[in-house]
Amino acid sequence: SSIFAAVEMAPRDPILGLNEAFNADARETKVNLGVGVYYDDNGKIPLLNAVKAAEKARLESMPPRGYQPIEGPSAYAQAVQALLFGKDSALLANGQVITAEALGGTGALKIGADFLKRLNPDATVYISDPSWENHRALFEFAGFKVENYPYYDAATRGVDFAAMKACLGGLPAGSIVVLHACCHNPTGADLTDAQWQEVVGLCRDGGLVPFLDMAYQGFADGIEPDAVAVRHFAASGLQFFVSSSFSKSFSLYGERIGALSIVTAAREESARVLSQLKRVIRTNYSNPPIHGAAVVAAVLSSPELRQMWEDELAGMRDRIRAMRTGLVEALKAEGVSQDFSFVIKQRGMFSYTGLTAEQVERLRTEFGIYAVSTGRICLAALNSRNLAYVARAIAKVVA
Ligand code: PLP
Repeated sequence: SSIFAAVEMAPRDPILGLNEAFNADARETKVNLGVGVYYDDNGKIPLLNAVKAAEKARLESMPPRGYQPIEGPSAYAQAVQALLFGKDSALLANGQVITAEALGGTGALKIGADFLKRLNPDATVYISDPSWENHRALFEFAGFKVENYPYYDAATRGVDFAAMKACLGGLPAGSIVVLHACCHNPTGADLTDAQWQEVVGLCRDGGLVPFLDMAYQGFADGIEPDAVAVRHFAASGLQFFVSSSFSKSFSLYGERIGALSIVTAAREESARVLSQLKRVIRTNYSNPPIHGAAVVAAVLSSPELRQMWEDELAGMRDRIRAMRTGLVEALKAEGVSQDFSFVIKQRGMFSYTGLTAEQVERLRTEFGIYAVSTGRICLAALNSRNLAYVARAIAKVVA
């Protein structure tokens, strides 16, 4: 018999399954609110002008395609570090931060997880309840036991901070805590500045290992304000991990461009940590691809391109905000009595709408509107043409 005879069919990825169903739907009015991708007002994934300019310059210079350093180019690492920590950060001056290019935010989480597994194989990883659907599987595949900490409060449509604190405060030392640095996926509910300071204190007092996941820097309030969690941890004197993704903020999804940064206690420690992280990378894919890192580094290090990028990022942020307000107003105009104003307060690409699985099902069957069964919708998939249609459909299913 085949060596694969015992291989079972893996469960379908719920979001990719949704995309397949959406693609197969023949209705012209169909809308896909299930994805985690930013679309412009024409329903297209934008190619940013800053990216276009950097790519054009690269193409014209026709650079050779040698292997990159295992950790990626240093110009890229420095650009990532400045975004996360601020260019004048003492941690950077002290050599306390190492950064390796990674294959998107997912790749950064994975090399971080593999590194941690060698450092502390018996630790448990704690993720928010709920969390990005890949967090659990990713850390489980790296060999960790994964548990939830309380996070979302359906009653307030915000964070149940008391429950979160109580849980984090009771975790065994060495536990790894995955935190969404901003724009929580899937709920859109973030911690406040003061709450972040409390979380830093809990991590310090409990000897926890913070792992910040930064997939949406610039999508809530801006590049600097969205780094608030990283900055509080940076000021704490703790060691911690940060995964960055530029999939969304540079609209470079398929280039797989992200980074893992690790904050250590001292320059000498950084050298040892980097040497081990490089072994993790070397044994996985040897060294990272060139293009995405070259584009991001070029944009971030050129004053003109950087300004262009910041303006385009602000444009994406403002458009999502406009869709949030627009949806709330359109629902009101449709006569919906239920208060949906929380949609305006939630941040980033997503909203936990509170729609039930049955209501989501009705949106799909009756209106061709696809959302995740948890009620998560992607605001960045709304536009001036489909907004009224979506609001009318939601009004019908909540009536
Ligand atoms: N982390 C979170 C919270 C995300 O929402 C995502 C993408 O949706 C990622 C990580 C992964 O990003 P990337 O596509 O860069 O791997």
